[in-house]
Amino acid sequence: MSTEFKIDSSNRLLVYNRAVYAFMLLSALHSRISELTDNDFLMYYYTVIPIFLIIFDRFVFFRRIKKLESQDEFPYTFMRVRTYIYIFLLSAGGIIDIIPASLIVCIFLCIVYIIFQDILFCDRFDSFNSCLSISVSLLISGILIFFKYRSLVNGIWKFGLLAPLMVVIIVCDVLYLIYSRSVRSLNERYKELLFKNEDTIRENEKLIAFKDKVEKVNSEINYQRISLARANDDLAESNNESRSLIGVMKFFSSSFDIEKNAEVMVDNIMKLKNARAVGMYISDNIYMNGEPFIYVNAVDDATDRVLRSELMDIYNLVVETGSFDPLPICLNREFKYPLLSGAGICNAAAFPAYENEKIYGVMVVISGKYDFFINGYAFYETSVMDFTSALISDRLYLKTEEMAKKDGLTKIYNRIYFNQFYRELKEDVLKSGDRLTVAMMDIDHFKNVNDTYGHLAGDEVIKMVASIDSKYAAKHQGTAVRFGGEEFLLILRGVGIDEAHQILKEMHDEIKSTVVEFEDQKIQVNTSMGVASYKDTCDNIENLLDLADKAMYFSKTHGRGMIVIDGQYNEDEPAVK
Ligand code: GH3
Ligand code: MG
Ligand code: MG
Repeated sequence: MSTEFKIDSSNRLLVYNRAVYAFMLLSALHSRISELTDNDFLMYYYTVIPIFLIIFDRFVFFRRIKKLESQDEFPYTFMRVRTYIYIFLLSAGGIIDIIPASLIVCIFLCIVYIIFQDILFCDRFDSFNSCLSISVSLLISGILIFFKYRSLVNGIWKFGLLAPLMVVIIVCDVLYLIYSRSVRSLNERYKELLFKNEDTIRENEKLIAFKDKVEKVNSEINYQRISLARANDDLAESNNESRSLIGVMKFFSSSFDIEKNAEVMVDNIMKLKNARAVGMYISDNIYMNGEPFIYVNAVDDATDRVLRSELMDIYNLVVETGSFDPLPICLNREFKYPLLSGAGICNAAAFPAYENEKIYGVMVVISGKYDFFINGYAFYETSVMDFTSALISDRLYLKTEEMAKKDGLTKIYNRIYFNQFYRELKEDVLKSGDRLTVAMMDIDHFKNVNDTYGHLAGDEVIKMVASIDSKYAAKHQGTAVRFGGEEFLLILRGVGIDEAHQILKEMHDEIKSTVVEFEDQKIQVNTSMGVASYKDTCDNIENLLDLADKAMYFSKTHGRGMIVIDGQYNEDEPAVK
């Protein structure tokens, strides 16, 4: 029997024991009440002993067994000592007095019960051992119980006392055999159950292993589901990025304004990525106006200030590094360069803008969030590259447009541009109420220059006059135009006739005094100028150009080399010089 089983059954055993001891106590009381004995001490003894056994079983024997663990060995010695002490105590009453027969039967039953417990708990199922233990026990009790009887029995009959003892032993042995057989069958049943249990355990283990596998597969599926969800998110994000890039590209293709393009790109990144700030810096040499360009979009003024003030340093750093790859400035609060600190930045990166292997600018993206660039830099790089290609085509367009507007030889505005510009200018002037002065000039006897020095020399002369015309236009916020072969215009907005006359006089003198050197030849020319001013000399702006032409023509017909003011000349009088 397993220790576990013994521990489990000890509770029930305690109840049975109490019943048996109580039965003996009642038997002792009965013996006294029925006056089967007149010995009070004997009766007290057999009253106290069952109570003692009940207490001992409850507080010593039961506790000892309850303390055991299922893998502990059963305390056999303790059990045997208990058995012999109990038998001794139960039989020792025989020393006091002759025990009534009914009580003896009860004592013997009790002893047999205790011996059975011993056999059961100590696993003494082999016949010899159990017989020996029964014999020894009964011998002890027999000797004790029959202690008083010896005076009643004489001679050989004393040995006759052994006969009932032997009968008891045989009965006990028979009972034992029956009992041990049933225990053995119980044991076999138990073993069978144990095997079945082991099978169940094995099945259980298999089930547990299977469950583990299922759980593992489940967690893998879960993991894949999470990865799939993440991939889905990434896909949605890149979809948004592509869509926004397409929108920006559409804008680029419809606009030739480089600055506006940069602003749209920066604003788009700010909006899509929820950045803290995005800034664009374009160095001076890429622009037609020669100025560096800075545009910053930031969530707050402090970040705006920091980024705006350090954009140029970042550009210089990028140029110094010489790499076209994105340059991380700060990664999850770890600053790689002493830049942009103090703006509550968690991540910042610079994206070089380059053309023909030359860095011309930089875009900087700043965020206050961790892992802002976790999905890489591709979107930002693409944005900058799209901007660069838009910039290249814009520049090409602007260059072509500029070429169409300007004269190839002199690089000042041509007649075609003038026609469009002058129409708009007139409308503008009429709206604003500004004054407008137009001066027309023609090189005198230019044919002679060509004829004398050749066409190439003539070209140089034309260039000289155009450059002086252009210089005065720039000086007075006007416009210089090559109106024809050797005819030029100077258009001055917001300038009246008197001021214009002074300007023209200066210009006229400069042209006259400028010497064009061509192949060791020194060439000087004079010009005829006619000038008309809207509101000062004429009320109808539509006649302005004609009146200037007529005034110039007056110079041509009256000796040339003169500045003639509209309305201030008379065909019959000598011209104003
Ligand atoms: P005037 O004082 O009356 O203006 O005399 P002019 O010789 O200047 O006469 P006109 O205006 O008729 O002559 C202009 C000449 O300028 C005719 C043309 O051959 C020459 N010309 C026009 N365009 C160019 C040019 O681009 N280069 C050169 N070298 N000559 C040009
Ligand atoms: Mg001429
Ligand atoms: Mg001419």
